[in-house]
Amino acid sequence: MKLDEPYNNENIFAKILRGDLPAIKLYEDDTTLAFMDIMPQIEGHCLVICKEPATNLLTVSPQAAQDIICTTQLVAGAVQNALTAPGIMIAQLSGSAAGQTVPHIHMHILPRYNGIELAFHAQAVADMNELEAVAAKIRAAL
Ligand code: 5GP
Repeated sequence: MKLDEPYNNENIFAKILRGDLPAIKLYEDDTTLAFMDIMPQIEGHCLVICKEPATNLLTVSPQAAQDIICTTQLVAGAVQNALTAPGIMIAQLSGSAAGQTVPHIHMHILPRYNGIELAFHAQAVADMNELEAVAAKIRAAL
């Protein structure tokens, strides 16, 4: 996908926002939604999206970009507390050349531990019961 590609309403995250696809939700407000990544690169890997239909960091409005960052900070703190992670990595991929696979802007929140590498990006679908159990811990820390 090119950075100036028009927004595609049929992308997976647009469907999650419309309620057409399920998601294990962590947090929602008027402008943003946080939910578990179904192909986590590490336990606790979750995503934050804005409700504004925007493809990437270069096309999102400044206000929605601020909203995403505020929610990312909030949820990252809960992930850190829930999983006692000594580090938190935030990733944002804009454009397929950067590795973006879903064309709705999102921030990745990834707890990190010394000496533990991340699994491959978007490769293996996790067990839904395990994802739900981790989500419950994160929600409780919000
Ligand atoms: P990107 O490659 O665009 O930066 O990241 C997209 C992320 O969305 C990947 O980490 C991938 O595992 C995740 N993902 C793909 N399909 C779904 C889905 O249907 N539901 C959820 N919750 N995550 C998804």
